[in-house]
Amino acid sequence: MNSLPNESCKTTCPYCGVGCGVQMPKDLSKVAGLETHPSNFGKLCIKGSSLHETLSIQGRLLNPKVHGQDSDWDTALDAVATKIQQVVKDHGPDAIAFYGSGQLLTEDYYVANKLMKGFIGSANMDTNSRLCMSSAVSAYKRAFGSDTVPICYEDIEATDLLILIGSNPAWAHPILYQRMVAAKKNNPNLKVVVIDPRKTASCDIADLHLPISSGSDAYLFNTLLAYLADNGHCDQDYIDQYTDGFDNAVQQAKSDNSSLADIAKVCDVPEDDIAQFFSWYSKTDKTLSFYSQGINQSSSGTDKCNAIINCHLATGRLGKPGAGPFSITGQPNAMGGREVGGLANQLAGRMHFEKPADIDRIARYWNTANIAQKNGLKAVDMFDAVDRGEIKFIWIMSTNPLVSMPEADRLKAALLKCEMVVVSDCLEYTDTTAIADIVLPAASWGEKNGTVTNSERRISRQRNFMSPMGNAKPDWWIITQVAQKLGFKEAFDYQHPYQIFNEHAALSAFENDYDGFPARDFDLSGLTNLTEQSYDDLQPIQWPVNKNYPAGRQRFFDDGKFFTANQRAQFVSLAPRLPLAKTSVELPLIMNTGRIRDQWHTMTRTGKTDRLLQHTPEPFVDINPLDANEYKLQQDDLAVIHNDHGEIIVRVKITKAQTPGNIFVPMHWTSQFASKGRMGVLVNSITCPVSGQPENKHTPVGIKKHDSQWFGFLMLTEQPEALSAACDYWAHVPFNIQKGDEVNVTASTLSCAQGHYYELSGQQNIAEAYQSLKKLLPDGEALIYSDARSGTHRIAIVEDNRLIASLFLSPQFDLPNRRWLSQIFSSQQLTDFQRRALLAGREGNAASDPGTIVCSCFQVGDKQVKAAVAEGINNVEALGAKLKCGTNCGSCVPELRTLIEQFSQQAEELATELVR
Ligand code: SF4
Repeated sequence: MNSLPNESCKTTCPYCGVGCGVQMPKDLSKVAGLETHPSNFGKLCIKGSSLHETLSIQGRLLNPKVHGQDSDWDTALDAVATKIQQVVKDHGPDAIAFYGSGQLLTEDYYVANKLMKGFIGSANMDTNSRLCMSSAVSAYKRAFGSDTVPICYEDIEATDLLILIGSNPAWAHPILYQRMVAAKKNNPNLKVVVIDPRKTASCDIADLHLPISSGSDAYLFNTLLAYLADNGHCDQDYIDQYTDGFDNAVQQAKSDNSSLADIAKVCDVPEDDIAQFFSWYSKTDKTLSFYSQGINQSSSGTDKCNAIINCHLATGRLGKPGAGPFSITGQPNAMGGREVGGLANQLAGRMHFEKPADIDRIARYWNTANIAQKNGLKAVDMFDAVDRGEIKFIWIMSTNPLVSMPEADRLKAALLKCEMVVVSDCLEYTDTTAIADIVLPAASWGEKNGTVTNSERRISRQRNFMSPMGNAKPDWWIITQVAQKLGFKEAFDYQHPYQIFNEHAALSAFENDYDGFPARDFDLSGLTNLTEQSYDDLQPIQWPVNKNYPAGRQRFFDDGKFFTANQRAQFVSLAPRLPLAKTSVELPLIMNTGRIRDQWHTMTRTGKTDRLLQHTPEPFVDINPLDANEYKLQQDDLAVIHNDHGEIIVRVKITKAQTPGNIFVPMHWTSQFASKGRMGVLVNSITCPVSGQPENKHTPVGIKKHDSQWFGFLMLTEQPEALSAACDYWAHVPFNIQKGDEVNVTASTLSCAQGHYYELSGQQNIAEAYQSLKKLLPDGEALIYSDARSGTHRIAIVEDNRLIASLFLSPQFDLPNRRWLSQIFSSQQLTDFQRRALLAGREGNAASDPGTIVCSCFQVGDKQVKAAVAEGINNVEALGAKLKCGTNCGSCVPELRTLIEQFSQQAEELATELVR
């Protein structure tokens, strides 16, 4: 039983790196943005405002399990500690590995890193942040001597030129995107340039879109550096006073293709557009480069980031309002992980193995003689070492690498060979828990208590407002219990996360001062002695927090001092190159991967709320019409995307937003949500040699139409077994069923029953499929319609005059409105009209079908938008006034605008046709 909050709780959203403050009142359904939080000022995107719908017990892991059997904590932790001891004794500490996550709180991360690097004695602790922003980390370090994000969010409002590079904040960082929309509205001088092979939703505010060819970013920025130097646009005083390496970097930039014509060819965009971009860059002091995975996830990701940073150093646009290179993090606590040494090439307190003094300092601080002496294995190398049998014990914390890692099927085979795989997670069934020897139930959001740090270095409290479900425990507790069983009781004797935070803060301040300028950027000396109460009361604050910046620091490098040996920033000379994996006759398309608007990572939370699944219920591929034509694909077909590593099956969406030769698939789908939707299966294990980040944005693949003989869907109140035996393709969408007239929203939110809807398709004869799938239906009164001539089959199963299951099959993808059917599951008593409608497979009132949901906040669909356009509505504001869509979080506004254009154009074409 959950203990519900007695009073309103101020906490932080657990999804993206924006780090929005959340107000969680006693009535959970009234979740709202925290007005006082400087990241979001009271706003939330649809994911944040649906948080209360993700708190149910469904799917939760409630007890430790050892080899598939429920166990108790003592037994499970004993087994973990005993195995670690045996492996260390027999094979040494490097045969152990920890793989963490940007979902861990800083306190969890700190103790995991301390145990692995400080006491087990190996640095084989890496994290899924390796897949997210490790190239940005490496590049900052090369340029500034430290992994320091110099920016704050207010720079979005202060800038005059906002460059979005390989980043789609409209979907991936929606609240920052809303700040960009507002900034553009309030500042007529603000120009927005989007550099992305895709025409994303963020192009809605773009003055210029450069759809450069995949992976050509560093060419563009290297040429920009040469252009700035050649045309007198550099800030020579700044270069002379604060930097090294300018001449070499410019010389190298000029030695490549550096004319506009050359670079237009490499990037495959019009020369005039590049000239326009360069001209704006040259003339605008307040230039903000905002970049994320489109830059980082590359076999030359670090170089790409440094190419961007070089241009800022050359123009002195750094440490000033509205200017600088801003790497935005993906996860809520990717930055916290960087603070505690979550990456295998980092030490705690943002210190590093290449400095022996850092190793010595931390060893003395932790009072350990067993600290690791060198970098550990980065994620891809770590799992390769598992594959080779060198790592014999791995502990995976709060992440699902069998979905997110490259060559995920090879990785699965590797983990199956490993002597012991431990997984701590809040969910019972994930791709990774399925192959674990021991699973440990971790507390989830709402139950966890600690801190997270967002993309602008702002530390916020994530507070608990519920007790952990079942026997779940906070990650810090699980890790410290294992540490104690390993004999490190004194070093891991924490009773509360505030004690861990204090130790972490004090380490940041330890021997961190010389000549009035701190040796290290990360300094929380102002937060070292918090009481439990002051920790609980901690307000969001940007680090460093020290005597110079007692209220935190907005921007770094405004003083021109960097953390290199001579305190000068370093230009990096770059020879750009294109992605290593090349297309071929067999694999002619480039697969790009990324986030969609309403889902988060592997859908462990966002997949629990049907509101968030309405917008995009299935895994899909976006493909340009020319490519669709070439590969004989039509809208809503199923496509098989394949390469040497495996294949996935996804729904076809034809869109001009994709450039020819490039396709896009979402990163989210797991084996719990689709039969074959894990994009990681296809991604190559090619990594950036500096950062170790894999190239998720560029995978050569082939595509072909799936030979579907039928389409269908199945709706049930219980998840069926052996669905894969009855069809080639399924995609799972949970939906809520209201059991009665609940008036207490708080209770109903947590106790709401779930139904399960599956999109289906197969290659076998439809009659055979019908017979196989019928066996999955529960007993009850069967309403049956079968038309052998058209091959259409429909069954509805009724019990106590309530709908409990339905199965619809058709040779075409022309099935009825699923939302209407899922809502009938909530009917307490079926009416005669509903029974007839079920047999007819039609709602009776077609006008009530909203179509595909576009606005998740108000559940407005594309058919409603089309009807409004037919009535004469021609802009987003008028549409919002009529249907409310786009008036809450605003994430759907770019799509609404596109739909208005599309439907208006269709109406005009129809009118022209009629006149003819
Ligand atoms: S923008 Fe990110 S942090 Fe803010 S509410 Fe949305 S998902 Fe949460």
